[in-house]
Amino acid sequence: MEDQYHSTETRREFLKKTALLAGAIVLPEFSNGCASLSQIDRLSIDYEKDIVLNNCNLIDPKNGTIRSGASLRISHGKVIGIGNRIEAASQNFDVFELDGRYVIPGLINAHCHSTMTGAASFNPFNVMAYLRQMKRNYMLAIQSGETTIRDMGALPNVLHNHIDEIQSGSLIGPRVFHCNAIMNIDGGHPDIRPSDVSFFGNTTTFFTGNITVNFKNTPELREKLRENSDRGASFIKLTVDNRSLICGRGEIPMYSREHLREIFNFAESRNLPVSCHNHMKYGFDRIIDYPIHSLEHIIFDEFLTDDDVENISRKNVSIIPTFIVAQCLAFNEVFNEIPEEYNTEFIHNEMRIKYEYLRTTAVQYCEEAIHTDNMQHLNLYRAMNCRELISRRIFLPNPVLYFGMMKYGLANLLKMRQAGITIGCGTDAGVPYDYFGTLWREMEMLHRAGFSKQEVLRCATVNNAKILGMEGRLGVLEAGAYADAVVLRDNPFDRIEAYREPSLVFKGGKLLHARANMVRERNTLRFA
Ligand SMILES: [Zn+2]
Repeated sequence: MEDQYHSTETRREFLKKTALLAGAIVLPEFSNGCASLSQIDRLSIDYEKDIVLNNCNLIDPKNGTIRSGASLRISHGKVIGIGNRIEAASQNFDVFELDGRYVIPGLINAHCHSTMTGAASFNPFNVMAYLRQMKRNYMLAIQSGETTIRDMGALPNVLHNHIDEIQSGSLIGPRVFHCNAIMNIDGGHPDIRPSDVSFFGNTTTFFTGNITVNFKNTPELREKLRENSDRGASFIKLTVDNRSLICGRGEIPMYSREHLREIFNFAESRNLPVSCHNHMKYGFDRIIDYPIHSLEHIIFDEFLTDDDVENISRKNVSIIPTFIVAQCLAFNEVFNEIPEEYNTEFIHNEMRIKYEYLRTTAVQYCEEAIHTDNMQHLNLYRAMNCRELISRRIFLPNPVLYFGMMKYGLANLLKMRQAGITIGCGTDAGVPYDYFGTLWREMEMLHRAGFSKQEVLRCATVNNAKILGMEGRLGVLEAGAYADAVVLRDNPFDRIEAYREPSLVFKGGKLLHARANMVRERNTLRFA
């Protein structure tokens, strides 16, 4: 028995080493693409001593208030106190003079896929771009003020290599909470197999691990639950819908009752929250009877009833709407004319914003080769219907479903907000056309949907921290919390666009991103 255990461990070790070696060979020496890093080094900040963010407008997302002329004192990665402006000259530690800029807690992206590239399909000529993009995702998160991410399904071996690199400091990136792979049944969402994507798919996943476990029976499910959890997963991710999101595909396999019993028993025994990808009312009606922690995305094929919403509220289930996915994946190209039911001002406005973004700023967040390829794929929607796409083995998301998300999903979201349900904030970045570093897009879309600017910030900080079980430690800047802080030039309660380009980003008290030039005068660091 012991021997057998020993030999599986050795095999696992071998796989890990092989994956690392393969990674080391194929990964180009990664340049962070951020000129500010050497600039930060030049500032030679001594983190052994305290640091102070001085003379700022400190925003409290809990109650939406702003304290002006505040100073935030940080020691060894944690906030130790908040007070009034101090005299830098009289201190023996470094003081960041912020000249009235706005300071918010580090943002949390509560739903993303950090080992996915945002590519609509696999192009063998883009392999190097995919590898670069996977690493850039973490850097992009930091540059946009996301100091924590919740990865909702990853290539486990790649994810763990990246987390190791972030922890060792060789890769700039956020705190990562994750579930490893998605606990789906064979053929369940996301119903694309590695071999569908590329001829080398199966070989590649030998090194990277697969994003989904695809269990075939209960014993295999049991094994995968254990394996995923033993690798540091802090929750279990299920997918509960019965239909595919891919153009031209229909029904997909579902968990049996025995599977669900197995999953929830395991979750209880390890005290792991269960989070469910759920777009369809069918899946909702089935899973809401189980002790779930969160529903990911939003029901997009039907209006929720008052009873449904009451049920979510009573069971204390949180929602991470990832509303921006609707905008990302609804494409006018599938219609000759937008059907009457989607002919709303809200949808037209979202479409205008989306196409403008794709044409102008999107490429800042994505390798050009990937983005160019994605844009060319839009022509396929114009040229072929879903049946033709699938018969040619082209697996694209079905845009019509996402128009539904802006109709039914919008109404459902507002109803849940009204009922006081905890609503988080995440992008689903990594899925096609949905790039990292763009939490601001979800925040702005929530605002256009009807959330106040104060609520939007609460979703992306306090609510997300609650969803992660990190209340009081993340998503707030108060004594005892991690010193994850984002400095903004403008007041985000005046201009929601203030989140787009943070001036400075601190994670655990360390400055990881400086958009603006900073200079040192003795112990004072100020904007040049
Ligand atoms: Zn997702």
